[in-house]
Amino acid sequence: MKSDFTLPFLFCFLFLILGLSGAISQNLIPEGGEYIFNQDDVPCLTDQQRETIKQQIRVNYDTLKSENRLAYNEGSRVPNPAFEWPLKKANGIGYDDVWGISNYLDQNSNFPNQLLDYDCGSKTYDLSSGYNHRGVDMFTWPFGWKMMDDDGVEIIAAAAGQIVAKNDGQFDRNCGFNGNPWNAVYVQHNDGSVALYGHMKNGSLTTKNVGDMVAQGEFLGIVGSSGSSTGPHLHFEVYTNINLELENLVDTYSGSCNSLNNESWWANQKPYINPNINAALTLSAPVNFNTCPDAETTNESNEFLMTDNIYFTIFMRDQVSGTSINLKTIRPDNSIQYQWNFDFTDDFQSSWWYWFFTADMEGEWTWEATYQGKTVSHTFNVTSALNTEGFTLNNVSVYPNPTKDIVYIDSDIPIKKATITDVLGKAIKQVDSRLEGLKEITLNDISEGLYFLTIESDANQKKTIRIVKN
Ligand SMILES: [Zn+2]
Repeated sequence: MKSDFTLPFLFCFLFLILGLSGAISQNLIPEGGEYIFNQDDVPCLTDQQRETIKQQIRVNYDTLKSENRLAYNEGSRVPNPAFEWPLKKANGIGYDDVWGISNYLDQNSNFPNQLLDYDCGSKTYDLSSGYNHRGVDMFTWPFGWKMMDDDGVEIIAAAAGQIVAKNDGQFDRNCGFNGNPWNAVYVQHNDGSVALYGHMKNGSLTTKNVGDMVAQGEFLGIVGSSGSSTGPHLHFEVYTNINLELENLVDTYSGSCNSLNNESWWANQKPYINPNINAALTLSAPVNFNTCPDAETTNESNEFLMTDNIYFTIFMRDQVSGTSINLKTIRPDNSIQYQWNFDFTDDFQSSWWYWFFTADMEGEWTWEATYQGKTVSHTFNVTSALNTEGFTLNNVSVYPNPTKDIVYIDSDIPIKKATITDVLGKAIKQVDSRLEGLKEITLNDISEGLYFLTIESDANQKKTIRIVKN
């Protein structure tokens, strides 16, 4: 979906730039649009599957009881737990946030299309088969499949408790209804209530077993798409006891249309609409979301030449119509290249927008987005245009380029060090000096693609050359 939004003052600006320099490639009209998770609503858990889980829990429960290992007695008179958020960004994930909410619990027992969430909205679903959604669906965003492959979003225990059942070994790249079981962990809390954490990635589950205790915030698994699921998400469903019956169902959110229970079960209940810039990224081309269940081709890059188009991209959670986001590209000297506002004209639970143009200065840049008082920024590097054919500069040449397994360095002065970085700026190979200087670098241990080779002399002279391995 393309926005019909226009930026009159920027058009003037753009016109001015193009007027001054026709060589600059510019596009300040955003592309992108809504990203729809869960296009075809499917029951996360059928009644029959829930019945199976219930029996599984009951058997384990009785076993634990007979072994004197059951942690909590039924009907304990303690307050319900105060949940912490069950999703956690894994270490090394550079995004500001990694989730959005596609569905709350359906409080309206009628169907189909008779929807009522705790906040009196319709951010939930039901099906003509009689299914009313009984939990919260938290999907991962941006790049749900890529993050699943990277173990990017962890499911953690919302509250401390005892594992009363778990299921693993199920295929985890589903795109729709299949009736197959999911991978899940079920935790009982000290008030007797039980939380279901479903759709986990195959083989990602905690190594702890039934009967083991978990602390609040402890790792339980990775967000996946096992069971009946249209993409990676966590289905979080809670009951006051192990019977998992409708009359025991808990809506964890307090709100004027929650007729199940009055109190919030969250230590800090998040707002119904929770706008955020989940990521501001620079890409070498627009994202290709590909076809489910293939991972997204993200085209993330933090290394550009001055001649490259840079795709300045934002990934939004809950963009709100009538609000605007402020966007800036900031040069290495802290001057602003462009600054503009983009007005949102729709309410989208997840969306992505991008603008592309070139940078006009070498060095470390910042791409910055500010929405609802919060700024998310991203840094990237720009270097001057370099020859990707046989390269000669300051009496240094590198050949062949593109190359296959080896690249030769021809230089008058000894080369002390060579570093190969990928397009995200991550050093993947480093070779140190020899007495006579580096003459060649083998590349058979790195995969095909575009890299940056930085060579350094004894005199601390440095050159970065773009190389292609194929
Ligand atoms: Zn669900």
